[in-house]
Amino acid sequence: MRAHDVWRTFTVLYVLALAAVSALIISHGEDLVAAMFVTVVAISVYLYIVYKRYHVERLPENDIRLFDDPDDLRILCRIYGLPDSGSPNWLRHRLAQFSRQNEDRSFVWVAPRFMKTLASSLEFAPGMEEYQSLLEDPNELLVRMVSSSPSVGPKSRPLVWGRSRSSSRRRTITSCPICDSSVGQRAPVCGECGADLEFYDALLESRIGRRLVAQKADGHGRKN
Ligand SMILES: [Zn+2]
Repeated sequence: MRAHDVWRTFTVLYVLALAAVSALIISHGEDLVAAMFVTVVAISVYLYIVYKRYHVERLPENDIRLFDDPDDLRILCRIYGLPDSGSPNWLRHRLAQFSRQNEDRSFVWVAPRFMKTLASSLEFAPGMEEYQSLLEDPNELLVRMVSSSPSVGPKSRPLVWGRSRSSSRRRTITSCPICDSSVGQRAPVCGECGADLEFYDALLESRIGRRLVAQKADGHGRKN
């Protein structure tokens, strides 16, 4: 079951539950307009949270191949609702496959794995088609694992979203996006945590990048 099917199932259940509660409240003599107002607000908040959190940018396949930190790859897998176990090459390959399968769209719906399993069981469907479609073809994997590992250093690694490294971008970075340490104007990496400063600065220009950096920063114990 794909993520948008999961949210369709849960949204139907949520609306039905709200309707049942509203009917119960009205049957006990409460004001009809007030009950309707509360129901509309509850649905609006639900839709806003789901859209804001689970409708995320699709990182292009070529950008995914730029990530060399295993923590980043695991965080991306969790954001996209994919299994986060395995070696960095497996994780990168899994993410690249996911991106390739959704290459016709800029944003993708995502859902936690437990919700996919639960929604599938509610619909009596097999449930793991999306993951099965992501199972690695051994021959393809061998080719990609040889070519997918980033082999360039922070001074020459391209940035995500097609952004360019520049002295003007570098001058605007005064603290590390990951550990919040002060950084010198010419240093390519953070002296404290080793983060590639311009790479994460470019990531911060997107919603998914801000989520990744926030989770990575939490892992470093940064106080935001
Ligand atoms: Zn740092």
